[in-house]
Amino acid sequence: MSKLLIVGTVAFDAIETPFGKTDKILGGAGTYIGLSAANFDIDSAVVSVVGDDFPHEYLDLMKNNNIDIEGIEVVKGGKTFFWSGRYHNDLNSRDTLDTQLNVLADFNPVVPNNYKDSEYVMLGNLHPLVQLSVLEQVEKPKLVVLDTMNFWMDNTPQDLDKVIAKVDVITINDEEARQLSGEYSLVKAARKIAEMGPKYIVIKKGEHGALLFHEDQIFHAPALPLEEVFDPTGAGDTFAGGFIGYLARTNDISFENMKNAVIYGSNLASFCVEKFGTERMQKLSREEVNERLHDFKKLTHFETKLD
Ligand code: AMP
Repeated sequence: MSKLLIVGTVAFDAIETPFGKTDKILGGAGTYIGLSAANFDIDSAVVSVVGDDFPHEYLDLMKNNNIDIEGIEVVKGGKTFFWSGRYHNDLNSRDTLDTQLNVLADFNPVVPNNYKDSEYVMLGNLHPLVQLSVLEQVEKPKLVVLDTMNFWMDNTPQDLDKVIAKVDVITINDEEARQLSGEYSLVKAARKIAEMGPKYIVIKKGEHGALLFHEDQIFHAPALPLEEVFDPTGAGDTFAGGFIGYLARTNDISFENMKNAVIYGSNLASFCVEKFGTERMQKLSREEVNERLHDFKKLTHFETKLD
């Protein structure tokens, strides 16, 4: 069985959408990625840091979802990373209201010994130097996927460049791809980002799906048109967790299989947005996931006769 090592924030989030508002709830890129990858029968561990204000129930919840939490450090007297955001009416864009790094500010990640030989590494959104440090502790990964966001492009661009140069796949959203490359066309943006290092570029477009680029090839996965979207927080991380979880499960990193991985990522992300925070991802059944895969197939299947 493949091993998946995940690094990312484990956090408190406060979210406002047109449908409501939450106080501090469980969030963080590492949390969403872990919960998403838990849908595949693989060994996965999250490396992160929290303060001792972080409830035990949240750690238990991750453990009960088969996530190894040995690599989550609890800092005595420390405060957990906090993020708060407000979504616009279209739910496709949001403003960050607050980012408090807290214990993340001087985090030295330690990869658990039995995950140093992980074949798959997911560098979830967090300080690029922390991502690099995790990568350096893994012996010989087969595939490294990086997720990041505008916050790190604005604040630590040189460090970000260093980590981008070392990964196989990058997943970012369309706005971030444009910021990182300075190109408006996503095709040109992907080409420029490929020159920075990654051989595969996944550009997430919220309710418009995702694009996978590799050399001159492009694959498009739709997002499932949903009746109810409550809270898009974590959709990108859930997508990434589904993407790498599927690759780790099938242990096949060909471009053809990455197309399936993009569909799995979109599929899992479609559940994430149906409830606030991680709620929907905590109680997801295999049957629900499989049923929705059929919907994805139907959505894009057509037969046209070409002369
Ligand atoms: P997503 O909606 O997929 O972009 O991810 C949202 C999650 O990212 C939230 O649960 C936040 O806790 C986390 N997050 C927000 N800002 C940052 C940041 N600067 N670094 C790391 N994680 C963040």
